[in-house]
Amino acid sequence: MLTTEEQNFNATIDRGMKILDDLIAQMQKDGKTELDGESCFKLSDTYGFPIDLTREILEEKGMTCDEEGFAECYAKQRETAKNAHAATKYMGADETVFHKIDKDFHTEFIGYDKLEGDSEISFITTDDELIENAKAGDEVYIVSSQTPFYAESGGQVGDIGTIVTESGKCRVVDTQKVVAGKFAHKAVVEEGEIAVGQKAHFTVDRKTRYAVMRNHSCAHLLQAALRKVLGEHVHQAGQLVDAHRLRFDFSHFNAMTAEEKLKVEALVNKYILEALDIKMEEMPIAEAQKLGAMALFGEKYGETVRVVTMGDGDETASIEFCGGTHLDNTSRIGLFKIISESSVASGVRRIEAVTGRGVLELVEERAATIQQAAESLKLANPLDIVKRCHTMMQEVKDLEKERDALQAEITNLKTKSLFDNPYEVNGVKVVTAMLTNTRPDMLRKMGDELKAREADAVAVVAGVDGEKANLVVVCGKNAVAKGAHAGKIAGKVAALTGGKGGGRPDSAMAGIGDRFKIDEALDKVNEIVGEFVK
Ligand SMILES: [Zn+2]
Repeated sequence: MLTTEEQNFNATIDRGMKILDDLIAQMQKDGKTELDGESCFKLSDTYGFPIDLTREILEEKGMTCDEEGFAECYAKQRETAKNAHAATKYMGADETVFHKIDKDFHTEFIGYDKLEGDSEISFITTDDELIENAKAGDEVYIVSSQTPFYAESGGQVGDIGTIVTESGKCRVVDTQKVVAGKFAHKAVVEEGEIAVGQKAHFTVDRKTRYAVMRNHSCAHLLQAALRKVLGEHVHQAGQLVDAHRLRFDFSHFNAMTAEEKLKVEALVNKYILEALDIKMEEMPIAEAQKLGAMALFGEKYGETVRVVTMGDGDETASIEFCGGTHLDNTSRIGLFKIISESSVASGVRRIEAVTGRGVLELVEERAATIQQAAESLKLANPLDIVKRCHTMMQEVKDLEKERDALQAEITNLKTKSLFDNPYEVNGVKVVTAMLTNTRPDMLRKMGDELKAREADAVAVVAGVDGEKANLVVVCGKNAVAKGAHAGKIAGKVAALTGGKGGGRPDSAMAGIGDRFKIDEALDKVNEIVGEFVK
């Protein structure tokens, strides 16, 4: 019996192997021999597949991994982990500068239905101390009693925007919840200076917030669609919504089929095109539960909760507990497109998708790729690409067949001429040759022909194939009877080049070590054959 730990390890290895196999297949299709650093890193970091194993498997296939890219990803991740640690520190895990603020001081969020508002600058802090004012160039945290800035929560990123006072202007790069209901605006003073006690105008970056809301509202529709298509066992297991994409993790055991993905995509887009109204309400938790609102598994809720409803009556698409910010109508999402579906852990799948502008960018990018492909193929009409690809593949197959036939003919001619001037060792004919552009399979075939042609001969032929070289040794029936042994001869000749190999008495293959030592090794063949044929 395997321990649970061993089983988990085996499952990790199996999953990693499968992912790597897919990557290798794709590389072979693309004619690549180096796996990009990001994929190597993802295999090791996300999937726990040892990097040494990745290297080994790639090597077996004559491939390598982008070591530099891998190192870069690794360094970047360490930096992120360090920052995340710093963030949790200021988010209240340890004593932080925000603990110096009165614990009864709260920030009221006023940004559900407006993107700007006035408030007073109550506190300004650096990373570790409260300060009274800040000037251009300073990086500070600003805490106010009210704000329209959403602080990162429930997978929705914190807002960015500006805070302006009569004497200065700040650019807010992030908003986080810190200890005891306080919001900290991470900001850079860009002009003038700001001071505690000043009145300030808070403006959320509208473009970014709308992009985030498109992704967040759409994540609700996605969960509803997944439950319809895959079943009621689907629950949110985590999410991240920012201005560029939505990432939704959910409970489900199998990879989604192409058909399921299409169905989910179509259903979400149907909800969007139906232009369903989005309602956000606060209500007692019991009432929300009665409505059948989806809650987050394992999440603790207060007495009153916010409930987000999309559509109404029979047309209700989704009801969820959610404290995030949302659009007022699903049509504002624009369009929805899944980018990828993958596994994050056992029983947890991840969908990455785009909406609105993100879909537009995707469509433009794909259209450009199609256009480029059409131009490379010299097609006036991009829609002919598929047809042209089929004919080209057929042409490649025909050409390969033709090439193989020609090569076979050349091999045949070369083997014929080999016996023009044989050397004799104790009554056995010995021939040697080195051929360029000869693959191992051609070499083997040549050996078979030589063996059949001359019963009294030993033939040793080296074939160079790009950077590599191989050796075939064959001994005719009579030569074997006189003591010749192809396997042993191959081993000895190959050893002279630092290579190795062996085989049967009548036929053997060996790998050449240093291909610049082939001539030298072939010169010794007569001597070596002499050791066996007495
Ligand atoms: Zn939500």
